[in-house]
Amino acid sequence: MLKMFSSLPRICATLALAIGCQQITLSAATPDQAAASLAQTALTNSGAMEILASLTTEIGPRLAGSAAEKRAAGWAVERFKKYGFDKVWTETFPLPHGWARGVEQAEITSPAPQPLTVTALGGSVATPLQGIEAEIALFKTYDELLAMPSNSLAGKIAVVTQPMIRAQDGAGYGALNKMRTAGPAEAARRGAVAYLLRSLGTDTHRVPHTGGTHYAADAPPIPAAALSVPDAEQLDRLVALGKPVRISLKLTPHDLGPITSQNVIAEIKGREKPDEIVLLGAHLDSWDLGTGAIDDGAGVAIVMAATKMIRDLPVPPRRTIRVVLFGSEEPGVIGGKAYAEVHQAELSHYVITAEPDLGQGPVYRFQTGVANPDEPTLQRIRATLLPLGVLPGDNSSHGESDVGPLAMQHVPAVTLELDATDYFDLHHTPDDTFDKVKPERINQSTAAYVAFTYLAAELAGDYRQPATAPAK
Ligand SMILES: [Zn+2]
Repeated sequence: MLKMFSSLPRICATLALAIGCQQITLSAATPDQAAASLAQTALTNSGAMEILASLTTEIGPRLAGSAAEKRAAGWAVERFKKYGFDKVWTETFPLPHGWARGVEQAEITSPAPQPLTVTALGGSVATPLQGIEAEIALFKTYDELLAMPSNSLAGKIAVVTQPMIRAQDGAGYGALNKMRTAGPAEAARRGAVAYLLRSLGTDTHRVPHTGGTHYAADAPPIPAAALSVPDAEQLDRLVALGKPVRISLKLTPHDLGPITSQNVIAEIKGREKPDEIVLLGAHLDSWDLGTGAIDDGAGVAIVMAATKMIRDLPVPPRRTIRVVLFGSEEPGVIGGKAYAEVHQAELSHYVITAEPDLGQGPVYRFQTGVANPDEPTLQRIRATLLPLGVLPGDNSSHGESDVGPLAMQHVPAVTLELDATDYFDLHHTPDDTFDKVKPERINQSTAAYVAFTYLAAELAGDYRQPATAPAK
């Protein structure tokens, strides 16, 4: 308690000449109250919707390494400068394989000719220009494919139709992710000439979900695409009738070769501990089919809106707040890995990191990944988040996507878990558009972020020292 109130005179002294000081001191006697007040404001109008509308409308889809992704970076730089951030800069990094989508067509040629709805996986190679026509080998689970001996699929198109489970924490995606990222390489190892999977999605629309895939050095790269859920179920029924099923597939994506991408970085300098950094991330790139509203435009809007609210306070918090809008997350966290490498020498200054990359929210749980989950300022953060509907979680956070490489190098991380129950209905599809985002959901997420970020920067807790460590 003593610590809580001891910060007050200093804030007021600094605020003595600032317009609005009186209001702030009346409505926010403690940092906890200031955070709660910021969160209340965010619940009704965080500014996140305006940011998201601008990004998804004025820029649109933002494929990794594309001219549109570069325009998005310029858009972000301009916004952060307009918001009055103390420092705004861009860091360029190489992207080994730029990729652009082409034609994507598939049809059943026998025994019941009809079209199929597919989309190429990001990074897929093209089919020959005339396409590939072959018998399929259909597996109801990914493990069934993995159980096949080498060369057993020679000349066939491998198809995996395992459904994804809907879950609030998005665990259904994690459980099946390898079916997309490693499936083509596993099918190629067994002799397949192409690979189709049931989309990693929880909707039943005739809309396929794209997403990145990775080839292996010991297997030839084969064309790979996702079927919409109804098309995958159509194939399940047709194969169950017992006749061989043949499919023709035509994909014409291009490998653009080595190009560049970039991370955009912006800072609010801490008033007392400028070298201590609270780092928030989100990723600016998106897949090309939709406009990347929920993945990860929502995350960009949440961190930009939350930090703009803190920037607008008459006095900044004690610690520096750094926002990193990463480039090229979708092809494999390329921007996140590049950032962790370039900033290696300063990682010990990062006091905590967080990233929203699972849609619009709301935030329903606060997970930590720290040395001392019972540290008193974390308890105060939990107490401030609870009235927003955010439950305390456990200490198993490893940081989301782009900040994962930082967490792997022992930067303390938290996850303000976004409710992902309906996220995978839209994820990586043409339906990932602005109209799907609801103000009350993204505002609540921004409220949780602004409260957490303000308190982490203002209370200056140490999340690296185990509570049981001997006193220095
Ligand atoms: Zn994402």
